[in-house]
Amino acid sequence: MSIKEIFNTMDYGTAPESTAMAKQWLAEQQHQFKHFIGGQWQTPASQQYFNSNNPANGELIAEVADGNEQDVDLAVSAAHQAQKSWVAIGGHARAKYLYAIARQIQKHSRLFAVLESLDNGKPIRESRDIDIPLVARHFYHHAGWAQLMSSELPNMQPLGVVGQIIPWNFPLLMLAWKVAPALAMGNTVVLKPAEFTSATAVLFAQICQAINLPAGVFNLILGDGKAGKALVEHNQVAKIAFTGSTEVGRLIRQATAGSGKKLSLELGGKSAFIVFDDADLDSVVEGLVDAIWFNQGQVCCAGSRLLMQESIAEKLTTKIKARMEKLVVGSPLDKGVDLGAIVDQSQLDTIKQLVQLGIDEGASLHQPSTPMPSSGCFYPPTLLTNVEPAATLAQLEIFGPVLVAMTFRTPNEAVQIANNSRYGLAASVWSENINLALDVAPKIKAGSVWINCTNMFDACAGFGGYRESGFGREGGKEGLYEYVQETWLANLSATTAAQKVSAKASVNTASHQLKIDHTAKLYIGGKQVRPDSGYSIPVFDANGEHIAELPDGSRKDIRNAVDAMNKATDWTNTSAHNRAQILFFIAENLESRQTEFAARITQLTGKSADDANAEVALAISRIFSSAAWADKYDGQIHNPPQRIVTLAMKEAIGNLAIVAPEQGGLLGFISTVMPAIAMGNRVCVVPSAQTALLATDFYQILNTSDLPAGVINIITGDRDALTDTLAKHYDIDGFWYWGSPEGSKLVEYEAAASMKRTWVNYGKIYEWSNETQIDSELFLRKAVEIKNIWVPYGA
Ligand code: NDP
Repeated sequence: MSIKEIFNTMDYGTAPESTAMAKQWLAEQQHQFKHFIGGQWQTPASQQYFNSNNPANGELIAEVADGNEQDVDLAVSAAHQAQKSWVAIGGHARAKYLYAIARQIQKHSRLFAVLESLDNGKPIRESRDIDIPLVARHFYHHAGWAQLMSSELPNMQPLGVVGQIIPWNFPLLMLAWKVAPALAMGNTVVLKPAEFTSATAVLFAQICQAINLPAGVFNLILGDGKAGKALVEHNQVAKIAFTGSTEVGRLIRQATAGSGKKLSLELGGKSAFIVFDDADLDSVVEGLVDAIWFNQGQVCCAGSRLLMQESIAEKLTTKIKARMEKLVVGSPLDKGVDLGAIVDQSQLDTIKQLVQLGIDEGASLHQPSTPMPSSGCFYPPTLLTNVEPAATLAQLEIFGPVLVAMTFRTPNEAVQIANNSRYGLAASVWSENINLALDVAPKIKAGSVWINCTNMFDACAGFGGYRESGFGREGGKEGLYEYVQETWLANLSATTAAQKVSAKASVNTASHQLKIDHTAKLYIGGKQVRPDSGYSIPVFDANGEHIAELPDGSRKDIRNAVDAMNKATDWTNTSAHNRAQILFFIAENLESRQTEFAARITQLTGKSADDANAEVALAISRIFSSAAWADKYDGQIHNPPQRIVTLAMKEAIGNLAIVAPEQGGLLGFISTVMPAIAMGNRVCVVPSAQTALLATDFYQILNTSDLPAGVINIITGDRDALTDTLAKHYDIDGFWYWGSPEGSKLVEYEAAASMKRTWVNYGKIYEWSNETQIDSELFLRKAVEIKNIWVPYGA
């Protein structure tokens, strides 16, 4: 082609990346991948392998070991054996290993990038310029955290053996997101990559060998879902970190319920890409290319729902269509390609079926006339317009290069449509008006919000979801907490069977004929109300005297409490300063009735007057602590390498259920409820059965302290039945539970349906008077979610 012709057509020639080095590496492995366990390459116990192919051309990448329970068991034992000395070598030594890994990744970056593109089908431009540099960045960043662990995370210890299960869309990057923080914090790892993409994990294991990482610190189990399941179920695994589909995430939540395993889930998404009428539409179009056509749209946080302000919808759609004509689909190893191959034929079939479903539901299809490869797993960039916000395709994750578009009129409507999703992973907001963008961003229920940019990631900023997009964060200091625990928490002892008290169990046989001096009520929406059931439960003092009746709350009362919490969102949106003032006022009002509360404690528990007084004094101090933290437990600003500031904002979880500790009395009630509301949550609390009367006395204090209606709702009754109802309620966003091991299991199991954030005690007893435990940051941390808002700067 002459230069004149090139100028006329503006066509690019091909620019293929050499695959020679990667092919040589695959040949050296004899096209066979084995497990890496305890520093050795291991054949699978089953002796079975399955084929993994290049999705662009069907060529064999390798036969992959088909891992099973036996292999997982070996790997977990190796990791378990290695863990003590991995902790003992200290943060500095671990930092040096992580640094060595980072350096090796940079040295082998070309091989990693080409292998990733061959195995997964992603364009080499992306694996070379995005995936691999971010992988190295993660190891550098976490080398730093290993070095700083003892000073920055005092009184924390590693969890032990961590099981990590990753998907195929960013094979090495997901490995890095999980392995780097886990190792930095002194855990050892058993990692299972996705069955379609094992190659770069095998090369990573070779790097671990090359730098003499102690045997057993990193173990690799290859295979499919059954190996993942075995890892989840292994009883020596202390934590599971998972990225993948919401369906499998839900199974893992259920499988680990009650086991005490820590869990973080990074699941699917249907992220909104909101364009206001004052946005720079040319930048928007380039943003969309990165949002939905990056990695063929196989991105959990892909901007797959385009929300356009009505006035610019037509203009923007025209520009998008014009840009789509220029997108190049082809060999992933061609440096000029925008979209490579879909990971596997099964994923391609799913995309085709879902697009057809959208058309059947009335969407209009637009695909460009771009030439498509004649074979391999390719799918063209696709735009579906005329999609209603409630249509299947506006709700389902497609995980392909398919953008669904809809319109809105006002910023409020944009927020409403954006939040009309069971997911909450990410969103982009496009406007030249920074005030508007920064007003909208906090209102979107999503873990990452990108302003005038999209799909930005960095090791210093946490990434993770709200709602059914999962829980836990990866990256940033917040991500480290997923791999450590407070030492005191690790050392708690378990409840004895006798301590599993339910409200019914507290009914003793003492005379029911005694004079009743008090009939308490439920406290819902700022009002004292009778229980829907009309029933009550007798309350006895420490001597077995029948002193009062407590309402027997039920499902309907919980529904009313949830309704009240939903109406109390002003509490979440008000300033932290206002919340602090009200908490101080609650403390002041409790102090003025200290003698009365102390007498009640003595009456119910038999504590001496001095001890009861001390308990109330400590409760007042706890309220002060929560008030103090209300306006100080604030966010952070991260500085990723790009010209961007990332605002890590702490946000309330929302509607929080609290089943207060049975043994905690007034202190347990106060120490759980106050930090929760200080952070802006609305709570529905089930108090301890024995001391519920203290909680119902407490609502008189709330009534005189300007606490808005619906912020604290108190339901007494059968703790087990109430726990069951609260755990199953879809409008409860988080659940803190102190009770039996069985109750803890139930809460975690039922939480899987709506992916509630849970914090349960597995039957362990907290010391409510121990300030190191109860005044710790843990209570605040559990009361918030962190949202990262990315704001680019510069001309
Ligand atoms: P999965 O959730 O099935 O897979 C993720 C990982 O979990 C893989 O390593 C998988 O193994 C493993 N796994 C599968 N079943 C179990 C189990 N019961 N217990 C433990 N581990 C298990 O995702 P898919 O790869 O099947 O993709 C399906 C859909 O999930 C996609 O279309 C997309 O919508 C979504 N997805 C979301 C991702 C995200 O980043 N949020 C990433 C990938 C997919 P194996 O690969 O061998 O099946």
